[in-house]
Amino acid sequence: MPVYDYVCKDCHKSFELVLTLTEHDKDKIVCPKCGSKNVEQEMTEFFAVTSKKS
Ligand SMILES: [Zn+2]
Repeated sequence: MPVYDYVCKDCHKSFELVLTLTEHDKDKIVCPKCGSKNVEQEMTEFFAVTSKKS
């Protein structure tokens, strides 16, 4: 199952969530620390895929 990295833009806490594709809905993601919905996904998997260019 994929692990998604998020960072809260309110308290700057980073956290990981393991989600299925159906659960991967940004509107449902809340910060576990402060409960804010103002979170942003970190594209760690995307960087890993594209790092091989050069
Ligand atoms: Zn927060």
